[in-house]
Amino acid sequence: MVSKINSLVRKNIDKLKPYSSARDEFNAPSKKDALIYLDANENPFESNYNRYPDPHQQLLKKRISEIRGITSEQIFLGNGSDEAIDLLIRAFCEPGVDNVIIPQPTYGMYSVCAGINDVEVRLVSLTSEFEIDSKSLEQSWNDHSKILFLCSPNNPSGNLLNKEAIKSLLPKFPGLVVIDEAYIDFAKDKGFTPLLNEFSNLVILQTLSKAWGLAGIRLGMCFASLEVIAVLNKIKPPYNINSMTQSVALQHLKKQAQKNEWVKTIIAEREKLKKELVRLAIVEKIFPSDANFLLVKMNDAKKIYAQLICDGIILRDRSNVALCEQCLRITVGTTTENKQLLEALKRL
Ligand SMILES: *Cc1c(COP(=O)(O)O)cnc(C)c1O
Repeated sequence: MVSKINSLVRKNIDKLKPYSSARDEFNAPSKKDALIYLDANENPFESNYNRYPDPHQQLLKKRISEIRGITSEQIFLGNGSDEAIDLLIRAFCEPGVDNVIIPQPTYGMYSVCAGINDVEVRLVSLTSEFEIDSKSLEQSWNDHSKILFLCSPNNPSGNLLNKEAIKSLLPKFPGLVVIDEAYIDFAKDKGFTPLLNEFSNLVILQTLSKAWGLAGIRLGMCFASLEVIAVLNKIKPPYNINSMTQSVALQHLKKQAQKNEWVKTIIAEREKLKKELVRLAIVEKIFPSDANFLLVKMNDAKKIYAQLICDGIILRDRSNVALCEQCLRITVGTTTENKQLLEALKRL
């Protein structure tokens, strides 16, 4: 299996000699040692931030490993999940040669990152209920298909994708299967982390941006086999997670009870919002959601979107997206915010 992953990596990346930082070449065994660091051209005067951050984020990975039940060696941290998406494409997809498979509709960054890197995108439609269509996926890929991006719960539809279908695709797909679980904390399923050691081509993305309430610090997590993590570490910018992000993340990861409380409240609010929305004449359909948002089909999405802006309420207009005609995506807010939204909708 090791050789299988290594054969997927772009040849230039496989051959690359990575940058070796000062902290890579000398990493103190213990902070207590009275060491004099004159190796990284840092300013010696203390400002809390005069030193470079830990390039391997060891304390943070240890904490995440305890919370998620994944070894530190199977964790890569990025400047948001977006950095992990970009690095995966750059490491595995040869521009102008390889391709990635992206079911539609989904999160836009996969296509954008592929486009930036001149990697062909093969779009495959989800079913009208936003479920994966295994047959058309299998027909879309070839030997140059290096990544299949699956988002579960899916953005913008909100549903978990069929787990059994994904499990049977995993051993068949010739490249990496990346499952983006940005919203997994809101879902009734545990997701794919328990299956990490069963499939060396399984890559899972999670983030602190949603349930953990830390979108501002930019911390994305990637869980995968040792081989995949080694490749990402090889090509990442040496100090990609800054000191402030590392320390804020460490503090907040102690507050798991708080996060769980938020998730419970948001789910309860989502269900309340759903019940109220179905009663409105302007609402035609609400799609099932395992996330912190609802995709809602309206009678006139563009008009409602524009009118809500006049009330100072901003939704996400998805009505131009495939399979989302007349749909707006509504993030679940606080009780007060949701009430204000409903009042504004009733006034229309
Ligand atoms: C919000 C979101 C993310 C989060 O990205 P970050 O860069 O970690 O903030 C990732 N994937 C999906 C599908 C999202 O909706």
